[in-house]
Amino acid sequence: MLAFFDTHAHLGDSVFETDRETVLDRARAAGVINIAEIADAPKEWPGALALSRARPLQVRCALGLHPYYVAEFSPALLGALAAKARLPEVAAIGEIGLDYVKTDAPKGAQIAAFRALLAGSLSWGRPAVIHCRGAYEDLRDVVGALCPHPPAEFRFWGVVHCFSGGEDDARFLVERGFALGVDGPVTYPKNDGLRAALRGAGLERIVLETDSPYLPPQSSRGKRNEPAAIPEIAAKVAEVFGRTLEDVARTTTDNARALYRL
Ligand SMILES: [Zn+2]
Ligand SMILES: [Zn+2]
Repeated sequence: MLAFFDTHAHLGDSVFETDRETVLDRARAAGVINIAEIADAPKEWPGALALSRARPLQVRCALGLHPYYVAEFSPALLGALAAKARLPEVAAIGEIGLDYVKTDAPKGAQIAAFRALLAGSLSWGRPAVIHCRGAYEDLRDVVGALCPHPPAEFRFWGVVHCFSGGEDDARFLVERGFALGVDGPVTYPKNDGLRAALRGAGLERIVLETDSPYLPPQSSRGKRNEPAAIPEIAAKVAEVFGRTLEDVARTTTDNARALYRL
């Protein structure tokens, strides 16, 4: 049986309140053996930790501060995150990053928080899960300054999840040691530009994710997304790269384990 890794899900979301266990079981039945549960703000950290403690073999978590919540950024938050980063359940720091589309949080504040959080992830020895929407130029500035080269001990400093940049952005990020997260949008008919950028990056730099409950693949657009959708995304990735589904499962799961240093 194929083994997949959903590197980015938000199962703590209230839309999973009544059937979270079923969703996790359905993921496993679909071959999604590992899931990274992502917490976007301190109020979500305890739930993500609890989920990974309840399912230690299946779920690890990332704790961070999404740019939507940049107003909550403070030295105290950075200190609290540094303490949590040492816990064995915490595989990564994220989401952190920049969003110039869905929030009008000031760009200067977003950049300052992102720099501090990315620097934190590097000093705590944890990979970063980066969110970037409409902000690739500033992302490249911050990443270029803090991560000019790929890491020596690991394959990746982190991942730019739900990658939506162009071919140049993809090249810039992989050259500096970042993986690219691929989710539902790769299956959307209009996204030829995205598929070309991913081809340029190479399958060895790609990890699969659902971003559940958001971004469902083509077959379930408009509905709630869940980790069991990973095989549909993988099938599209196989088509994009002209590789077999087995090859995509093996390679992207390997990449994901390297990303989260498991
Ligand atoms: Zn995101
Ligand atoms: Zn997310």
